[in-house]
Formats: sequence, structure tokens, C-alpha cells
Amino acid sequence: MNLIQNARISSGKGNEIQMVNILFDDKIREISTEPINQSVSQIIELEGKLLIPGCIDAHVHFNDPGYTHHETFTTGTTAAAFGGITTVIDMPCTSVPPVTTRKNLERKLAVIEKKAVVDFALWGGIRKNDFPLSKNQILELWNSGVVGIKIYTISGMETFQALSYDDIQNVFKQFPYLLFAFHAEDAEIIQNATLKLTPEELAKPENYLRSRPAEAEIKAVKKILKIGRNNRIHFVHVGSSEAANLILRKKKQMDVTFETCPHYLQFTAEDYPKLLGRLKTAPPVKNESDRKFLRVCLKNEDVDFITTDHAGCDWETEKNLTDFSKVYSGIPGTQLMIPYLFSEFYQKEKVPLSTLIKLTSENAAKRYGLFPRKGSLQIGTDADFTVIDLEKPLKVDEKKLQSIGKYSPFQGDTFRCSIARTIVRGETVFESGNGIQVKPGFGKWVKREY
Ligand SMILES: [Zn+2]
Repeated sequence: MNLIQNARISSGKGNEIQMVNILFDDKIREISTEPINQSVSQIIELEGKLLIPGCIDAHVHFNDPGYTHHETFTTGTTAAAFGGITTVIDMPCTSVPPVTTRKNLERKLAVIEKKAVVDFALWGGIRKNDFPLSKNQILELWNSGVVGIKIYTISGMETFQALSYDDIQNVFKQFPYLLFAFHAEDAEIIQNATLKLTPEELAKPENYLRSRPAEAEIKAVKKILKIGRNNRIHFVHVGSSEAANLILRKKKQMDVTFETCPHYLQFTAEDYPKLLGRLKTAPPVKNESDRKFLRVCLKNEDVDFITTDHAGCDWETEKNLTDFSKVYSGIPGTQLMIPYLFSEFYQKEKVPLSTLIKLTSENAAKRYGLFPRKGSLQIGTDADFTVIDLEKPLKVDEKKLQSIGKYSPFQGDTFRCSIARTIVRGETVFESGNGIQVKPGFGKWVKREY
């Protein structure tokens, strides 16, 4: 048994907090405002630091196996642990094999299980490459415990091709009860917008949004909401206010959720000429009105949760290029999301603590069938804790990122807080000043439970 003393936790109501002591082994055994008198093997004194349910990054690309020059499960989960993330959910598309069948999932698991330092769940996916689809294969994949099925309406990946709206409609009919996640950008709009620009124009960072305009996101979201009104749908990385608004208006009528990412909350397309490859990802960041709207969505809990869409690559050969159209799309964000969100929204914007907890763990855990084992501080659930030091700032130095991707649009920024400790199933996996405390292989696969 272990004991955490003097942790400041949310009471669940707004900014109300409680000072508590927590008794735990791999599960939470007792939480008390009174001293806990029991013989324990370890006492962790938090001196009033903030303790929240272990954070979940529900959208990462860790590329393992297959594209390990971009990220391995060890570098990715190490970055997560440094960033206070206790569970990551890895996308199905950026590995070889992709997670499109149970067999592929097992092949991937055999590799990554030995490498993870924090817990992980997995996305399954449907790609055009596998058409005509085997219904049994998809059901088998779903039943093996993936959190959902990811589909692309546009894809730059040969090994994970996009589906047409007709394909999607057929998939919706075949699998009415599965949860589907969409990368929603209309392929035709992007193709046409790109054709209108010369290679010289496409090479310039200031034209990136013109080549992938917000209209693409808006049209794809609109279309999927229409054909999927009887399905369970999640939209990943929404960056457009109008797309977000379309989703919000449908929330009462259908089972739909969406996420956004720190880059959409902090940057706009005006930042591309300055931040260059550091900010390039797809979909692009958009305009100030979009950024403002998404920040309001966060404050109002209209957005369901925040993820990073973490995707790293080699800075020198894939990002630091003069032709912006050739620059790899992807931002490695999992190490910085929690310090950024708590600094920007809890400390600066005074968003209630209870809201930030929902958006960084609880809501994702509920959506993906992991709650209350993950994303809660209930007795009997996994002892996953993120400890934040609100008094120790973090100056972003991209050279010190644990990801293979050593770059960040937040380079040089100072966040008001930092991660003091990351605890997964009762074990400290990361401690500020001492780094990673467990061996690769400590992190376990977490299956969707409902
Ligand atoms: Zn992604």
C-alpha cells in the first residue's frame, strides 16, 4: 500500500477543491480529508500540489511498427509520461500493419506491449484498401476491444486509403452500433483548391490554408452528420467554428461528439509564415474567429475533449524545408498539452477545474468505454494520477522533447505550470527532475469495456 499526502483535488463542483490523502496500491483504496493511519511502503508528500485523474490523450500517432523513424511506442509513451498523460489512444493508420483486423491488432500488440511506459488503448480502422469489406472481420476487430473505428474522407497514406461518402453510408448501414471517428475534410474541395494554386504558391506557408480551406471541413462534417444521423459518430481534430457549430446543433438529435487540439486553440493561419513546419498539420489551423469560437467551446464544455493528434517526424529532413507543400504534416503535442491547457485556461482564463478535468480525461474515458477504470478518482479504479505544480513554470525547449519530433509551435513559450509526477496504476512512471521511473513494457493495453 502507498499513501499520497496533502493532494489538492477537485470536489467536482467548479473550482471547489479539497485537501486529501489517498491510499492506493494499483487501485485507489481510500480518499480522505482526515489523516490515514495505516502502515504503507511509500509516502508521497505533495504539499498541496494539484492532483487530477490521470489524463488521457485520445488521439496519438505513435507509428509503431512500420514508421518508427517518426516515433516508436517507447519515445511516444515517454513523451506522454513527461506530459502527465497516463493513457494514450493510438490511431490505427500510421503503423504497418494498420489496425484493420484482429490479426493485425495482435501483430501490433506483440511489438508495442514491450515498449509502452504508460497505458494505451487502440483505435481500429476501415480503409478503402480492404474493400469489399468482410463484415465478420470488422466485428471481430470491434469485439477485440478497440475504442472505435477510424475512417478518413481524405488521406495521403497509400496504406490507409480514404472512403467515399457512398462507402461511408454503406458502412453506417452495416454497423449501426459501432462508434466511428472521422477525419472530416472533403477530398474534392481540397483537390480543386490545390489545383487553383501554382507550385510556387503552394510552396509558400501563407497559402497552406487556401490549399485546404475550412469549407472542406464544413462540407465533410455536414455530409457525415446527414448520412450518419442514426449512428454513433466522433469528429477528430475540429478546427473550424462552422464545423463545430454544425455538430453542436445536432447534439440533441443524435449521438455525436467532437474534439479539438491545442494548436487550434492557440494559433491561426497568420502564424504559418512565422512558425513554418512547426505548425503544419492537417487539417490546418484556421482564422481568429475559429480560434475564438473553439476557446468558447472549451469554456462552455461544448467540445467533448481535447487531444493532441500527436505526430512527430525528423525536423531537419522532413520539416525544415523551403517548399512548404513538401513539409510533413504533424505536430508532436502529447508532452505539452496538459501544461498548456492548465496554464492557458485554468490559470490565465479561469476556466473551472471541474471543466478541465472533464476535457482532459473523464469525457474521453466515458466516450471510449474506459470509465470509471480510467478518467476518475473513484474507489476501486486504477490509481492513475497526474500531479501538476501550479507554481513551477515550464519554458518550452523543443530540443528537450522526448518525441523523435524535436519541434513545437509552442517553442520558446512559457507555461505557468508543469508536470510534477505521473502515476499509472499506482507506480510513479515520471517524476520531475528524475525522468522515467519504469521500464518499457510497464504500460498495459486497456480494452473498451462497453
Ligand atoms: Zn490524427
